[in-house]
Amino acid sequence: MYDTHAHLADLPENAVRRSKAAGLKGVIAMSTTLATCRETLRLRDLHPSFVWATLGVHPTEFFNDDLEATLELIKANQKRCVAIGEIGLDYWHKLVRKNETQRARQAKFYIAQLAVARELDLPVSIHSRGAWRDCLVLASEHGPGCGVFHWYSGPLDVLDAIIDSGYYVSCTPALEGSPELRAAMERAPIERILVETDSPVWIKSLNRPSEPMDVQLTIDHLSELKELPREDVRATTARNAEALFRL
Ligand SMILES: [Zn+2]
Repeated sequence: MYDTHAHLADLPENAVRRSKAAGLKGVIAMSTTLATCRETLRLRDLHPSFVWATLGVHPTEFFNDDLEATLELIKANQKRCVAIGEIGLDYWHKLVRKNETQRARQAKFYIAQLAVARELDLPVSIHSRGAWRDCLVLASEHGPGCGVFHWYSGPLDVLDAIIDSGYYVSCTPALEGSPELRAAMERAPIERILVETDSPVWIKSLNRPSEPMDVQLTIDHLSELKELPREDVRATTARNAEALFRL
């Protein structure tokens, strides 16, 4: 099994060791800013063929980041990353919700990073909170045609369009308690689902921040929801990750 979405740059270093001990095959490490892009690349070099890097600026982290510098860094390191991410739109963020200028700038970052993913033929990892439909429309127009809508908890008609367009969706340990996430994962075919933690996001049931090893919880919840053996969920979602990120 893989954790297909972890913010390793924000986790203690021994989280990687613990995830290896837990039997993970690898971790897809997300970047959110220029600074975490550099840190993610460092971790990737430290754990070759286990930590896989993505590069990009997150839709709630772009306020101080420089788009041109990000695009340059992505191009210079295209062979060291497996995807562009975490990119997208977030209409619920307080600085974007009522500010048209910030919203336009957020879209500009997203579109430019989709275009570079298309140019470099790399998949995208998309954050789409509150902006599910616009994220899909822009990805279809400007993106590489492959990627994952991470932690997908949006409307089910958009989910159908996401699946029809060839994208994956992913789920986290929040599957245990989120009705929206459960509805989406119930509907999506297992062949299009990736598992992840979005660590260090807090896990209520454990009363601590998550780590990549907690992807086992995601697999447990998903196997329960889909009424499939845990082994099958583990194998299918691992194959999905290997196919999307070309591992
Ligand atoms: Zn994330």
